[in-house]
Amino acid sequence: MNRAATLARQDVRYQLHAYTNAVQHQGIGPCIMDRGHGIHVYDTGGKEYIEGMSGLWSVAVGFSEPRLAQVAYEQMQRLPFYHTFSHKSNVPSIELAEKLIGLTGGRMAQAFFTNSGSEANDTIVKMVWYYNNALGRPDKKKIIARQRGYHGVTVASASLTGLAGNHRSFDLPLPRILHTRCPHWYREGLPGETEAAFAERLAAELEALILAEGPETVAAFIGEPVMGAGGVVVPPEAYWPKMQAVCRKYDVLVIADEVITGFGRTGRMFASELYGIEPDFMTLSKQLTSSYQPLAAVLMNERVASVITRHSGELGTFGHGYTASGHPVAAAVALENIRIIEERGLVDNAAAAGAVLQRRLRELGDHPLVGEVRGVGLIAAVELVADKAGRAPFDPPGRAGAQVVRRAQDNGLILRGIQDSVAFCPPLIITEAQVETLADRFARSLEEEA
Ligand code: PLP
Repeated sequence: MNRAATLARQDVRYQLHAYTNAVQHQGIGPCIMDRGHGIHVYDTGGKEYIEGMSGLWSVAVGFSEPRLAQVAYEQMQRLPFYHTFSHKSNVPSIELAEKLIGLTGGRMAQAFFTNSGSEANDTIVKMVWYYNNALGRPDKKKIIARQRGYHGVTVASASLTGLAGNHRSFDLPLPRILHTRCPHWYREGLPGETEAAFAERLAAELEALILAEGPETVAAFIGEPVMGAGGVVVPPEAYWPKMQAVCRKYDVLVIADEVITGFGRTGRMFASELYGIEPDFMTLSKQLTSSYQPLAAVLMNERVASVITRHSGELGTFGHGYTASGHPVAAAVALENIRIIEERGLVDNAAAAGAVLQRRLRELGDHPLVGEVRGVGLIAAVELVADKAGRAPFDPPGRAGAQVVRRAQDNGLILRGIQDSVAFCPPLIITEAQVETLADRFARSLEEEA
């Protein structure tokens, strides 16, 4: 048996895979990636793929950045680990916290580090509760998230996530977490309703929910500026300003989960800038280190930070933290990664290469299988439908998307099927010529399916 076949057998035998049908996996087996170069990855058989999803929406600088390997090596030699508990600190975590606050133009005041986006959102849930306890509002604890939103998989963050698959058989969501409508006009808009009217209706629905629950019980609203794992949903222009105004009216904190959209994905450093969101909390991860190291950050503004600081003094401690909070190797990699994003103008490249991606995908809009093409910058989705005129989805859902994604993989392009939407999220280093190749491979895969 060759090495690839042996590895495949061992993978099926010994590893339970994330987001995988474990029974099917025994038959299908893994596609094992062995190395990367630029926007490409290579499997153990040597086949080359364009990684059209940046791994998991995350590898901004591509799969072979030597500067990140070098700083990780140097930091491991100098101080491989030090924590941030009990007044201790380390140099990279301090520099990274300062850098992140600077990138927000000072709109945020402090950072708290975790290992993953899920833990960061879990931390925010606890901070929101802590904040309201500090203010003497023990009943103001409910958090409103959105259907199809994705915020992770810990008990609290999976509860925030608005996808049935993350709740089913896990006894979730937790009480005190509610979901409001997804801002997907194509699917949720009423016949004849404009995008502006749709945004207005969603804000009214949010307000009605807050009033029904009692504003004295609603603490926060969380959303991704552009939804990712729920199918790449770009909200109507008026959506965020209107939702934010409702939150402010009832003293509801706003949490912008920028785990996917942060660090240039939409053509702006943060998508909050694009939509005029002024969050009380921001969640960052993924492109923070280009996922070369596990790391996430919670950013909080002065309003929140000052209350948390004061309350920790009253209680004697801020009783929360992970062994690896502010891990020096991860923080050093993040700093170098951000330097690369800035030096190479990757945010501007996301806007320029993104314009090519959006144009090329929209050219497929007339295809009989294509219901909607949506996206901004270097994130996009093509939604496949059974009936174009009636927008009818496939029954059962997901098969057409999975088939096109499989054909794309055969054609040397990794994409992701989310039900029958095919998602695109290539590395920020992608050139315009490489976007053309990516789009050609996708168009061919779609043709083969038609
Ligand atoms: N928030 C968003 C918007 C995400 O897309 C993800 C992961 O895809 C998470 C949170 C969870 O991050 P992690 O998988 O690192 O726990």
